[in-house]
Amino acid sequence: MVDLAVIGAGPAGCATAIWAAARGLSVLLVERSQFPRFRPGECLHPGIEVLFRDLGVLDKVLERSSVRPSTRTFVSKGRRSVEGFGADVNGPWQALHVSRADLDDILLTQAQQLGAVLHIHRSQVTPISSNGKIEGVEFDGRMIRCAFVIDASGQGAWLTRAMGHKHLASSPCLTAFYGYCHGHLPEGQLFEVSAVGWQWMAQVSAEVVNWTSLRFGIHQKPLPPSIISSLPSCGRNGGADVTWRIAPSVAGPSFFITGDAAFVTDPSSGNGVLRAVMSGIKAAHNARAVLTGQSTEDEATQDYQIWMKHWFEADTAQLAHLYETLSEGWRAPDTLAIT
Ligand SMILES: Cc1cc2nc3c(=O)[nH]c(=O)nc-3n(C[C@H](O)[C@H](O)[C@H](O)COP(=O)(O)OP(=O)(O)OC[C@H]3O[C@@H](n4cnc5c(N)ncnc54)[C@H](O)[C@@H]3O)c2cc1C
Repeated sequence: MVDLAVIGAGPAGCATAIWAAARGLSVLLVERSQFPRFRPGECLHPGIEVLFRDLGVLDKVLERSSVRPSTRTFVSKGRRSVEGFGADVNGPWQALHVSRADLDDILLTQAQQLGAVLHIHRSQVTPISSNGKIEGVEFDGRMIRCAFVIDASGQGAWLTRAMGHKHLASSPCLTAFYGYCHGHLPEGQLFEVSAVGWQWMAQVSAEVVNWTSLRFGIHQKPLPPSIISSLPSCGRNGGADVTWRIAPSVAGPSFFITGDAAFVTDPSSGNGVLRAVMSGIKAAHNARAVLTGQSTEDEATQDYQIWMKHWFEADTAQLAHLYETLSEGWRAPDTLAIT
């Protein structure tokens, strides 16, 4: 019996585990992959700094973040503009560029040091439910009872699938392609948008540039952007389905769904890891509020549902507005369609 069974040990799962374990809850993290695992997405929104401080990992992340731009260059219709991320009394906000292997390692180590137990499972994980309430999980021949199950399984959307539901899409089908090359980019971050889509480049470490590209209605791998095409390719490359989509139910009787498992928007929203960490903390916070009698289960789940739905709507409205002004070929569906 544990307080929280967290499925997935990426940023969302580890943030849940760290926040909860630091406040005395017992946490089991159930992961299917051996780490380090590859995942694209090294550019972290400056807003994540305050969350990392809260989780007690900021200093370690800063140590491994060799590139910290305070601006990004935006190119549209031949015009170039340099935009800051924002500023406060301490100066301009800076993004953090850190490899996902390093970030995973820092977060997982912190979760385990605070007492969360990691189990790498070999068989399928199945939710145990009774009277419409999830009461635990079953894997590798073990049954674990828990007060809350937190789904942090990323795009695998473990719980939504296990409940027989499907994510609801609110964009046409979108694929983002990415790759890495050795070399230097004059800007820390460069975002080029056009009528056919966008491409993004970033210096993710002293010697490595990442590029990501999304073209409306096209699902074949493009060539690397021309300004870095002479640089030698390195590391992984691939593509991912980044159709905007949300789970029909992101919280319910004894469960919360966090990070990409709750909803996905395309990477130009620039906040995937921030959202994973923040939703993980919020889920842990709301679960603890129920366990300590500060809130009823209904209040905690409704609060979480509304918060996540508003975030999804705000992000997708902003992206749709940008794409509408860029391209006549772009059209977001009026209503949610089932993928
Ligand atoms: C091309 C691309 C570029 C991106 N670039 C950026 C970027 O620059 N900045 C940014 O902030 N975001 C970026 N993102 C988004 C970002 O990568 C995700 O939003 C983020 O990884 C979500 O974190 P998560 O913890 O929800 O999921 P994940 O990081 O995917 O972690 C999920 C974990 O759950 C595990 N898991 C899955 N199923 C199971 C199961 N059944 N049982 C146990 N474990 C399971 C997986 O092995 C994995 O370890 C990008 C995304 C893409 C596709």
